[in-house]
Amino acid sequence: MAAGAGRYSAVRLLKEGLLGNRGWGRAWRDPVPRKGYDVIIVGGGGHGLATAYYLAKEHRMRNVAVLEKGWIGGGNAGRNTTIIRANYMLPGNTDFYRYSIDVWETLSKDLNFNVMFSQRGHLALFHSPAERDAAARRANIMRLNGVDAELLDREAVREKVPHLDFSDDARFRIEGAVWQPRAGTARHDAVNWGYARAADEMGVDIIQNCEVVGFLNDAAGRVTGVRTTRGDILAEKVGVAVAGHSSRLAQMAGVGRLPIEAHKLQAFVSEPIKPHLDCVVAFAGIGHFYISQSDKGGMVFGGDIEMYNSYAQRGALPVVEDVAACACQVMPSLGRVKLLRHWAGIMDMSMDGSPIIDRTSVPGVYLNAGWCYGGFKATPASGVCFAHLLATDTPHPVAEELTLGRFERGSTIDEKGAGARAWLH
Ligand SMILES: Cc1cc2nc3c(=O)[nH]c(=O)nc-3n(C[C@H](O)[C@H](O)[C@H](O)COP(=O)(O)OP(=O)(O)OC[C@H]3O[C@@H](n4cnc5c(N)ncnc54)[C@H](O)[C@@H]3O)c2cc1C
Repeated sequence: MAAGAGRYSAVRLLKEGLLGNRGWGRAWRDPVPRKGYDVIIVGGGGHGLATAYYLAKEHRMRNVAVLEKGWIGGGNAGRNTTIIRANYMLPGNTDFYRYSIDVWETLSKDLNFNVMFSQRGHLALFHSPAERDAAARRANIMRLNGVDAELLDREAVREKVPHLDFSDDARFRIEGAVWQPRAGTARHDAVNWGYARAADEMGVDIIQNCEVVGFLNDAAGRVTGVRTTRGDILAEKVGVAVAGHSSRLAQMAGVGRLPIEAHKLQAFVSEPIKPHLDCVVAFAGIGHFYISQSDKGGMVFGGDIEMYNSYAQRGALPVVEDVAACACQVMPSLGRVKLLRHWAGIMDMSMDGSPIIDRTSVPGVYLNAGWCYGGFKATPASGVCFAHLLATDTPHPVAEELTLGRFERGSTIDEKGAGARAWLH
């Protein structure tokens, strides 16, 4: 039975305010696992919760459980810098990420939950004539694929964000930027909570503190369920959406080695300051740094992954130093701002920098992984496409290229042309 949180609306808010806020129900239940489900999703991050929601909504599959080893949104979904963009160049990625922005635009209304999607625009700086050529090529490809992009010169960038370093002795002279107006940010926790609440209302069981520790198979090798810290749970199909833990789950399921490595990525947030930055700025190429300002005033930023493999959700000092240096090179005013906190998440770095939404070699086990730095912006499209695959056993049209088999065939979607090394993406 659903939690009965009811519809959220301005009228309801007013009414509850007048009646002492006694009428709000739980946003989602805390159910005891059933004996079995049609579909089990492993991983209560944004992708797992979105998948469960679209399974229930689009495919009427409501005998579904999401199993999360900790609390929902405790993984990368609640640790990221929330940048949403669609500046990809290669077939396989362009359609998918363009579609994701389309879904973001109506998500709050669809979920009846404000995910605070803010289309404040994304400014990707370039610093040399060679970088300008690469940026122009990217922007033109994006436009040819129906994705919004404008090439801005130095003065147009200065007009948008005057306090970037435009001085003559700037270490990396700003030559211009690719501007994507429909890009922006969303509130990560709200995305998780919105999907969880809406899925729960349709009968999906969201089971927290339930770690999957093994898989159950029949004599033919088909999956029949999972072993968890709360007992065995049967399932017709199991969808794995565990980001940085994908390789571990794949090994447990008997899928074997994935073309994925786990790396840590740190995020940083400063003390709140007055409005300073009204768009997202990315400094990539010569350095690697991206920044936006949260609605509470904190400057939210990040940089490179840690170059060694790890499952620890905390970062090391060399990256802190590198990110601080990039920050001061691009936006010197940040040098006066105090850092409030920083943390890390575990990234599922695929070997071509592009994701995987596919069946696996084990019948009944499906994989959603390889999101690298960019899975938050993919959350809605990933949910729609993974649900489509789980429900129909066919890929969604915008995710047809995101297969595991591309690595066997050598037809990778190598977006950065960086080759088959996770740490280059
Ligand atoms: C610091 C940082 C900054 C980022 N910035 C951006 C950004 O600006 N824009 C962007 O688009 N993307 C960004 N990302 C990437 C993005 O956050 C991820 O790609 C995305 O959140 C992945 O979502 P998910 O649902 O697949 O994974 P997660 O949210 O990590 O969810 C996976 C869940 O699986 C659970 N799990 C693992 N093993 C098991 C098990 N055995 N049993 C049960 N549950 C299990 C975990 O506890 C976790 O909650 C960033 C990531 C980090 C870490």
